[in-house]
Amino acid sequence: MGIFDSPQDIQNSLLEWFRENGRHWIPWKLKKDGSIPQLGESISPYEIWIAEVMLQQTQLKVVIPYWEKWIKVFPSLIDLAEADLEKVLLIWQGLGYYSRATRIHQSSKILIECVGENSVENLHSWPVGIDQWMSLPGIGRSTAGSIISSAFDLPTPILDGNVKRIFSRLLASEKTSIKNEKRLWELSSLLIANVSPRDLNQALMDLGSKICTPKKPICSSCPLQNFCVAHTKYDPDDFPKKEMKKIKPLQEIGIGLVFNKNGELLIDQRLEGSSMGGMWEFPGGKKNSDESIEKTIERELKEELGIIVKVGVKLLSFEHAYTHKRLFFTVHICELILGEPKPLASQKLLWVSPYKLSNFPFPAANTKIISELHKHLAYGNKKL
Ligand code: SF4
Repeated sequence: MGIFDSPQDIQNSLLEWFRENGRHWIPWKLKKDGSIPQLGESISPYEIWIAEVMLQQTQLKVVIPYWEKWIKVFPSLIDLAEADLEKVLLIWQGLGYYSRATRIHQSSKILIECVGENSVENLHSWPVGIDQWMSLPGIGRSTAGSIISSAFDLPTPILDGNVKRIFSRLLASEKTSIKNEKRLWELSSLLIANVSPRDLNQALMDLGSKICTPKKPICSSCPLQNFCVAHTKYDPDDFPKKEMKKIKPLQEIGIGLVFNKNGELLIDQRLEGSSMGGMWEFPGGKKNSDESIEKTIERELKEELGIIVKVGVKLLSFEHAYTHKRLFFTVHICELILGEPKPLASQKLLWVSPYKLSNFPFPAANTKIISELHKHLAYGNKKL
């Protein structure tokens, strides 16, 4: 008998395991008074939505302190919708993949229209349809499914990384998760029928986190071992089958730290709509193959700011990996020789004290530069 023929046995085994071993303490899955919601009872989707977007690229233990800080600063949908994007990015700083924060902010304005400003506390005013949630920026089917099942205990399936791994192993699928997605969604939909969807989805996520881990799953403690083809016939570590890894191209970037006579540093704000739009950074850009990094900095600052600089000492160089590319940054301290900086390729420029940079949201790569700069200044170094 195949897995698709015995969904009830799998459901029962999973839910029994979940009652004893589930993570029943996750703060956004609890009611306001800290108790566990009853079967079919709704809880606030706002906190769940924020957490689910944070969890898209980040582990639970990393997310929790960021989520707690977020809920203190933006306790309701209204607080978030009325906040400046810059403040939102500042609270998100450190979590990475900043487009998620921008999209949450965009979504808050759409949701407030949909829910109604006077009805955010009324859980029945919130959308419960998968299509409604998926129409929000940055919300895919699995995130939408998790929000709806967690908040309203409705049967919306999920297929995050944990669940894909469990299902790929149960089926011992020879296809990669991407190629097998339709079948994995079918299994998720089948399992969620006629039980508490909230508990079933959470059970899958908890099993993937605690037992069916990416490497060396603890099959001896797994409630699904009798149904699992990878466990009975193969080595579970071989599933899911991996995609061919693409080699990420390396691009060199020259950065100029430009000081004025007051010892203030020039920073620019990235254009809205661009990658990491709204965040602040130090000016600079891509190196052409036929130029030195010093020439890159001179050229980029002339093109982006309309100024002439003298490139001085090198502060640091380092590599930083993003999802699809690797960047190699070389950072020099520069002296402004001629011109008044203008935001020709950014939305705003500011001169700020190097010790007030923490008031602005910067991408992770820039935080390395800031920490090295503080060390450099602490040693009483001259600018050039
Ligand atoms: S038996 Fe092992 S491989 Fe199969 S689902 Fe359980 S932990 Fe994962």
